[in-house]
This record gives sequence, structure tokens and C-alpha cells, in this order.
Amino acid sequence: MTQALWIKNPLAILADNAEGGIVVKDDRIVETVRRGKQPVYSGGMDVVDASEHVVLPGLINTHHHFYQTLTRACPPALNKELFPWLKALYPIWAGLTPEHMALASRVAMAELLLSGCTSASDHHYLFPASLTNGIDIQVEEAARLGLRVTLTRGSMSLGEEDGGLPPQSTVQDDDTILTDSLRLIDRYHDAREGAMVQIALAPCSPFSVTPDLMRASADLARSKGVRLHTHLSETEDENEFCQQVFGMRPVDYLESVDWMAGDVWLAHGIYFTEQEIARLGRAGVGICHCPSSNMVLASGIAATLDLEAAGAPVGLGVDGSASNDGSNLIQEIRQALMIGRLKYGASRVTHWDALRWATKGSARCLGRDDIGTIQAGKQADLAMFKLDELRFSGAGDPLAALLLCGAHRADRVMVGGQWRVIDGEIPGLDLTELQQQHSKKAADLIKEV
Ligand code: ZN
Repeated sequence: MTQALWIKNPLAILADNAEGGIVVKDDRIVETVRRGKQPVYSGGMDVVDASEHVVLPGLINTHHHFYQTLTRACPPALNKELFPWLKALYPIWAGLTPEHMALASRVAMAELLLSGCTSASDHHYLFPASLTNGIDIQVEEAARLGLRVTLTRGSMSLGEEDGGLPPQSTVQDDDTILTDSLRLIDRYHDAREGAMVQIALAPCSPFSVTPDLMRASADLARSKGVRLHTHLSETEDENEFCQQVFGMRPVDYLESVDWMAGDVWLAHGIYFTEQEIARLGRAGVGICHCPSSNMVLASGIAATLDLEAAGAPVGLGVDGSASNDGSNLIQEIRQALMIGRLKYGASRVTHWDALRWATKGSARCLGRDDIGTIQAGKQADLAMFKLDELRFSGAGDPLAALLLCGAHRADRVMVGGQWRVIDGEIPGLDLTELQQQHSKKAADLIKEV
């Protein structure tokens, strides 16, 4: 048993009645302390002076493609919209190997941690012959860095020869996909409170899998009690594709394959009608808003406030590093605030809204009630920022300053009661060496095509 820890008197904290800080014991928050009070907890306690820190619940990223850190600002894919962008990148991604995957995942997760992220979901859907164990590698890398993860076993089964978008060498047949999905759930999925690894099933998108695989994935996920994820309604092109191939719009398609349910969360969710938003809300389908990616590819702006008002959980995601091209979650919250204001007006989207999407909203998308808020009984997942850089000088409201002045690096990050970032560094990780290895592998991958 470890000694309890009082994170004392924060400069600001995103929690109710916790101005005096919080007490952490083992992997949980055991107490929030009111302003000017001492903890009720009576055992031995270490103290961290948080008077220079803004304390947030650990940030939660609900959509990413870790492998894409290898194709950032990739010349063949620059300045393109979604479909041509994908077609430029698929042949490069088809050459992924286990070593690529390990380095790419390590880079993405290190970036996430350093930006205050404590839980991340990755959507990995590429299983070429040279890389069949991508998720197994991610499990190892996440354990090494101590990041909490929901790893989604993605899939692509509709290749170019059958009217889909991806090249044939990147797709698998349904049996292979479902057998491997079952193996990963049985081997890694932890349904308990405080789980560090969960598995979900994630056919890539309507334009890369068959309706049969969507249905079979839903059946398997429900029989094993895991969640479902996919990309949906990201662009008008996708709406047209669904009309042409399936004779219906994406939300009708989702319903037709039995995916309109509370165990589903979708990446993007932009092109919905008012009626479709109401249907998604009634079903409790979660939406992961990906503002940077939606701006890079000029896809559109998600109707976050309308979706939430309809009852749909709204979370936040950095999306893959080929369309962001970073993995910085606190910066993504700033992007969500800005683009939200552009859509709805400055008084309707507040810093509280944007912070809620990246914490409580994201936790709901992942189906978790043990993370996402600072309350007694929840997991001790915390992101602590200092406002000591020039960009914050003169700032008034510390919580608003994080987003408005552009915080980009956490000073301390705790996951399940363990410090994973201290003084802005990840203990035990040589970032310079990682960066050298990763850059070299990225250059090799692009050269091979
Ligand atoms: Zn994506």
C-alpha cells in the first residue's frame, strides 16, 4: 500500500468544492478538500504544493490513429481532401511493420501524455501481411508508458476490386477479422473499474467494409460486452458514397446494420440533418469531435451543442497524426473552442464546454464512469498545468487561460495514482533517441513506395 498524497491548494481546479485540493490513495481520489480546510483523511500523507498548478481531470482522447505519426506533413498527401488524401496514403501505410508500429505508438502516446492526456482510444484498422499484430504491440507500448487505453480492433474488408476505397493488399476477409477480434477481446479486454486496457471493435468506415461485417462486428461486440466504433458522416463524399452503394444516408445505414445504440461512438459525425441528430441522441450514440482534422481536410464542423442537447455524448479526439498533424490534446481543446464559436457564436461555446468534451464527454463515449471527473471514488487521473510561460503573462482566469492563451504542455500528469509526467518530462523515456529512431523509420516508409 502506498502513502496517500494531498495535492494541496491548487491555483485553480476543474471540480466542485475542491479549492483545497484532493487526496489520492493508491489508484483513486479518496477526497476533495474545500477551500481553507484540512483533509478528513487521517492516515499518513505526503503533500504536493499545487499553488502554481491548474488541475484538470486527466484529458481523454477518443479517436486517434497512432501509426499515422509516421506520415505527418507527408508530401504526396499535402493539400488534399479526404478521399484523394486517403488514396495517396494507403500505399504508404500498406508497408507498415511491427517496428514502425511500436515507434509510432510510442511517439503518439508520449505526445498525448505530455499534453495532459491520461486515456486514449486508438483506431487501428491496417493489418497488411507485414503487420498482423498491431494491437498486441500497442498493448505493450501503452503499458510501458502507463497510459490508459481503449484499443479498437479496426478492419477493412471492401477493397478497390469490390467497389471500396482501399487497395486490395490492405483488406482482410471477414473470418480473419472476426477471429482476430475475438482473440484480442479474450486476451486483453478488462471490464473492471480502473481498467488500463479495454478493447472495442471498429470497422473502419462505410466505404471500406461490407454491411455484413458491420452486423457481424456488432453481434460479436455485444456477445462479449465491448463497445463499437467507426468513422461516420465525415464528408459530403461519404454521404454520396452511401447513397450510391447502399441506397441510403449514413445514419439510415447505421440503423440498417444495428448500430444505432448506446454502445456505439462515432468519429467526426458532421453531416447529419436535424432529424438524424434527434435519432442519434435518442439512441445515445456518442460522437467524437475532431476539430483539427476537420479543418485540415476542410471536412466541416460538427454540431456539438445540438448533438449534446439531443442526448448524444460528445467527446474530443485529435484524430490521426496524418490529418492533425499532432497528438496534443490540450491544444485540441483550444481548437474545439475556436471552431465551436465560429459555428455557434462566442457566448454560446464557453471554455467550460470545451473542457467538458475532453473529460466527462469523452469518458461517456468510451462507456466509462470511473474517469473524466475529479470526485471521490474516481480513478486518480489528473493533468496539471503551470501558467509560467510568457504566453500566460497577465492572464486573469486560470482555467480560461489554458485554452485562450494556448497551453501546450502539462507540468505533471497522473494516471491511476502514478506520476507519468513530472516537470514536463516522462521519467525513463529518452525523447531525443525516440525522435531519431522514429524520424528515420518514417523516412524509410515513404521511400519504399
Ligand atoms: Zn480517423
